[in-house]
Amino acid sequence: MTDLRPVAATLTRELSARYSTDIVTPDSWQVVLARIAAQGAALGLGAINSALAGWAREAFDALDPATSSRSVCLPQIGGDGAVVVMSAAALADPVENIETIAHEHEHARVLKADADVQVLADYLNGEMRATVEARAYAVGAFARYLVTGAWQTADEIVQPLAHGYALDAATREHCAVIVASALASMRAGVVPPFEVCGVVLEVLRAKHPGAIVPDAFKVRP
Ligand SMILES: [Zn+2]
Repeated sequence: MTDLRPVAATLTRELSARYSTDIVTPDSWQVVLARIAAQGAALGLGAINSALAGWAREAFDALDPATSSRSVCLPQIGGDGAVVVMSAAALADPVENIETIAHEHEHARVLKADADVQVLADYLNGEMRATVEARAYAVGAFARYLVTGAWQTADEIVQPLAHGYALDAATREHCAVIVASALASMRAGVVPPFEVCGVVLEVLRAKHPGAIVPDAFKVRP
């Protein structure tokens, strides 16, 4: 089996360049913490603050290297691009690393495309946030599938959502539908219709073709 560590490193480098992200690891978290604190201090009032309070809590949880098992993607408010904070747990295993870097870059794609308005909409609207997460889980699941060939059900893939966001049954169902449509594409040997899926496959085909496990997605001779 291919050593997936260099594959994870390549995907990190290529996705980071494509979506203008800074990648933060537990070793470098203090630098970004200072930047986020400065951004928070420069921000406005009212609803924006309450939205950012939840966002900041998540950020600070993820940035504590002693306790975090979660990774997050944070907007660079007033800047172009995003900050991807990789948890120690996500970095410990190359398959987790690959899934997580793909997942977080789906968030980075949204932040780069729609900037601050999108950020606030996502964090104020629970259902929209859930949709954004469902897409990111689908992208992560595709990346994992490419390098392992292991199949997961939509329910297995959205399970973390139920814990992370206290979703009601209807919203969870909505997320499972998004993920199931991605799985249906994958089963048919078609790239799911999310841009980052195509980018991940393109990078693997160009740089690590031997790491692609499912026949349907291998480079054709
Ligand atoms: Zn996410």
